[in-house]
Amino acid sequence: MARKEEWQLELGRSVTRAADLDRVLKLSDDEKAAIEELRDAYPMKITRHYLDLIDPGRPDDPLRKLVVPSPQELRHRHGEEDDDVHADEAQYQPCPGIIHRYPGKLLLIPTLGCPAHCRFCFRKGRKVQHLSHEEGERALSYIRGNESIRDVIITGGEPFILPDEEVHYWVSSVRAIDHVQIIRVTTRTPIYLPSRITDTLVGILAENQPIFVTVSFVHPREITPEVERALGKLSDAGIVMLQQGPILRGINDDPEVLKEMYEKLASLRVLPYYAIWGIHAPGAEHFLVDGHRASEIMGALENKTSGFCVPHLITIAKGDKVRMMGWSPEKEMYHLARREPPSAGEPVRLHPHPETRHK
Ligand code: SF4
Repeated sequence: MARKEEWQLELGRSVTRAADLDRVLKLSDDEKAAIEELRDAYPMKITRHYLDLIDPGRPDDPLRKLVVPSPQELRHRHGEEDDDVHADEAQYQPCPGIIHRYPGKLLLIPTLGCPAHCRFCFRKGRKVQHLSHEEGERALSYIRGNESIRDVIITGGEPFILPDEEVHYWVSSVRAIDHVQIIRVTTRTPIYLPSRITDTLVGILAENQPIFVTVSFVHPREITPEVERALGKLSDAGIVMLQQGPILRGINDDPEVLKEMYEKLASLRVLPYYAIWGIHAPGAEHFLVDGHRASEIMGALENKTSGFCVPHLITIAKGDKVRMMGWSPEKEMYHLARREPPSAGEPVRLHPHPETRHK
């Protein structure tokens, strides 16, 4: 059996049991009960690196809420089965490992394994599976046979928790397909396990350019010196780095928190691309921010920082990504007031619909 690499050993030391976590964080009885009840449906998994970032003296630490199961996850909402992302995605699955929803691009999912289990994840509840070699070849054949595909998003789960040979297999096989122009990898691995961003991994990605790596930061405290070094290695190798993450209640629904995070990321050559709100997932309702509040938060960033530090605000509606243009009634009033002040109480509407479909 091949000798395990340092990052694999570190991953093996992740915390998955309440008793081990209790020694570090002092869990409440409710948290212990939630960890136990969710053990089959969506078990706890926290890397040692991430655990070290959590303040043990603060039960409401945002980083704690992101990874420690809470009793709120056990609350179910009437009609939440309609938000089942797995059933929705199944409509667009021509074969295992492929989700082809939009023209010109598709998701390739080699594994559903993750280095840690984010409590907000909208794919939560999927059982960990890796594609078999045959399934992988079938998925690649689908891409080869479909010349309209120019953008392949390798996601999961987390592709970077696969061993180097497998990452190499996926990335180089997709790169060898002539009509594929761009390969994207979406990941939170540099956040949970920065030691995974080894020279070998970076070399594999660098050989198969152009590659975009989309990271999903949620809080500025996730950007540690180890994480900065991992991001720096990727950028130095010519990988284009983008940030795409959710706005979550009680975690980052505050313009100052987001500003700090986006500015820090931009200085590390990671460009804020998408901020996502309103994705419903069973057991994650307590993280939901409403659309008006999300617009307000992003609006508060405008003209307060560099334009490239303000990502597009999007949501997912009926399976489509919808870009919110950040136009609010207050801005509309301000804009009109420069020409003629609207009379009191008169409804004003410059744009009948402040949303555009994102293609
Ligand atoms: S690492 Fe990504 S796929 Fe895995 S649980 Fe977190 S958000 Fe979901």
